[in-house]
Amino acid sequence: MAATPATPARARILVLGRPGSGKGTQCTRLATILAVPHISTGDLLRATVARDTPLGRMLKGYLDTGELVPDDLVVDVVADHLADDPTNGFVLDGFPRTVAQAEQLVELLAPDELDLAIDLAVSPGVARARLLRRLVCGDCGRPTGPQSGETDAQCGECGGLLATRLDDEASTISRRLALHEELTEPLIAWLDAKGLLVRIDAEGPADEVAARAAAAVTRVAAAPA
Ligand code: AMP
Repeated sequence: MAATPATPARARILVLGRPGSGKGTQCTRLATILAVPHISTGDLLRATVARDTPLGRMLKGYLDTGELVPDDLVVDVVADHLADDPTNGFVLDGFPRTVAQAEQLVELLAPDELDLAIDLAVSPGVARARLLRRLVCGDCGRPTGPQSGETDAQCGECGGLLATRLDDEASTISRRLALHEELTEPLIAWLDAKGLLVRIDAEGPADEVAARAAAAVTRVAAAPA
């Protein structure tokens, strides 16, 4: 029997958190519960890089070094996807990452509004340790975390080869974590001031984090308008 979505299909959810906080895993689950698209700017940008066009080669420089892609460029990528989406809802993974991106997103959505922003809270030490151990499937892109039990070189989902992400190298991880403090923490404070933020503990097992995230979106859906 098909599962009934716990919340209306137009939910508009942002998921933030340090690199290594588990955004990809949790967004996949939330998008399934809410029956809305999971839009990951990291995945979209990596797909553009893989096409090896002039734009892709330009983006590769940012991604390989862990720098943020310029705001206008990444907003355009997201705008294209939102325009294609008939459900009118989304779980946004890794976007926005700056206050400027968030302001442009709000303008893009108007008069509709965001429902909730979830900050997946992990300490810098836990984030770094996870990223240093992370492998991703070269075919389907699925990350394999330390808790998954996959120790051989093949993806348990599609059989593709597992590899370390180029930007999961130690000095690049430091840069990505520093950018989070510098540019994304002010955004988290900005969302909090708007009453949109829920911070959840994301250091435990993925199933426990998923239960906390699902409870947060269900509370929002149940709240009177
Ligand atoms: P992620 O897969 O979310 O870890 O993102 C991988 C990389 O893509 C980041 O290190 C940035 O180079 C780029 N990226 C992803 N999302 C954004 C964003 N919202 N703004 C700027 N750059 C981004």
